[in-house]
Amino acid sequence: MISYWEKVSFLNYDYVIVGGGIVGFSTALSLRDNYPKASILVLESGFLPSGASTKNAGFACVGSLSEIIEDLRTHTEDEVCELVKLRKDGLELLKKRLGENRIGYQGYGSHELIFHHELHLLEHIKKINTLLSNIYAVPIFEERAQDISSFGFSSEVKTTIYNRAEGSIHTGKMMKNLISKAQSLGIEYKTRSQVVALDEDNTGVLVHIKDEEGRIRANKVFICTNAFSKTLLPELDLKPGRGQILITKPIPGLSLKGTFHFDQGYYYFREIDGRILFGGGRNIDFINEESTLDELNEKIQHDLEQKLRHLILPGYEVAIDQRWTGIMAFGPQKKPIVQAISPRIFAGVRLGGMGVAIGSKLGEMLAELVN
Ligand SMILES: Cc1cc2nc3c(=O)[nH]c(=O)nc-3n(C[C@H](O)[C@H](O)[C@H](O)COP(=O)(O)OP(=O)(O)OC[C@H]3O[C@@H](n4cnc5c(N)ncnc54)[C@H](O)[C@@H]3O)c2cc1C
Repeated sequence: MISYWEKVSFLNYDYVIVGGGIVGFSTALSLRDNYPKASILVLESGFLPSGASTKNAGFACVGSLSEIIEDLRTHTEDEVCELVKLRKDGLELLKKRLGENRIGYQGYGSHELIFHHELHLLEHIKKINTLLSNIYAVPIFEERAQDISSFGFSSEVKTTIYNRAEGSIHTGKMMKNLISKAQSLGIEYKTRSQVVALDEDNTGVLVHIKDEEGRIRANKVFICTNAFSKTLLPELDLKPGRGQILITKPIPGLSLKGTFHFDQGYYYFREIDGRILFGGGRNIDFINEESTLDELNEKIQHDLEQKLRHLILPGYEVAIDQRWTGIMAFGPQKKPIVQAISPRIFAGVRLGGMGVAIGSKLGEMLAELVN
């Protein structure tokens, strides 16, 4: 049974955020900026955040050349520019909010690996730089054939396209510091609190938590559950997309530094702590990866390992230390959903593979829907 004290002090909030990933905490922090005295609670279903925000590769990515060219087949130029701008603004906000040190930011740029059948992409560099010239004062893409010899890739890699606007972060540090910043500003955080239903009336929203008798009363609720949103909002147009990752043990003599991708961003790798973190491959098994299950896909993990040994690190002795998955959300368009579902319920979801970049900005946009 719930006591009077519990009802008054623990079960009443101005704002409740469902989902403790980058969007959930960014929304909480933007609400705090706008409403210094509001009571704010973040509810997370897992013991740790259990979606993508602590599982990703930590690329501070604005898009590779081949990805942007592919996007232009399904989106207008304005839509593509809008997405790149969102990523740039999101990264700037993240850096400003937490500081580069606290997110382990390294702004070394990135390289896209170009294979023989992709050499025609080089012809588009000028056009794409021009397209993005309203966002970036200097051209961001350039061919860097001279860098290949120092990387030691297989000879299948014919050249690279350097993107000066990209970098990487330390995903674990970023999320830990986002959570501690929120807590230092009086934002409450409860884990193992899966929201199973929301009941809205004229005075507020009742938030029901799995296996808990107490109902939390909120003035407004923000749904930041990304790939898991269909249980609360079945009408949303999104599908889950699982991502597979592996990380090697430390590799003696590893000289590779920085962040790399290939195949329209479907594969990505980086150096971290003297190891290589390598992920992707969803495009070789889209059907099985449309899943919210935290399960390894043997076909993709095998593909990653083969590419790691033969393409990225030929000649190195490599041992795999860990493998894991994370769940993203995709839709017919790359644009995320930032929407008022009702007068008191708002959703910020469907971040695709770019939530590290856009998550902070999305939280800001979501918080601005309240007035
Ligand atoms: C393998 C992988 C690699 C990636 N690499 C990159 C990258 O390099 N760069 C980049 O920009 N992006 C990358 N992404 C994408 C990025 O991680 C996501 O877009 C971003 O983390 C989404 O953040 P979010 O807060 O919307 O969702 P999530 O991080 O998924 O957070 C949602 C949270 O809601 C919780 N939740 C769900 N349902 C409920 C409920 N009913 N009640 C309470 N809590 C609930 C979940 O447990 C979860 O913690 C990658 C993703 C993956 C999976």
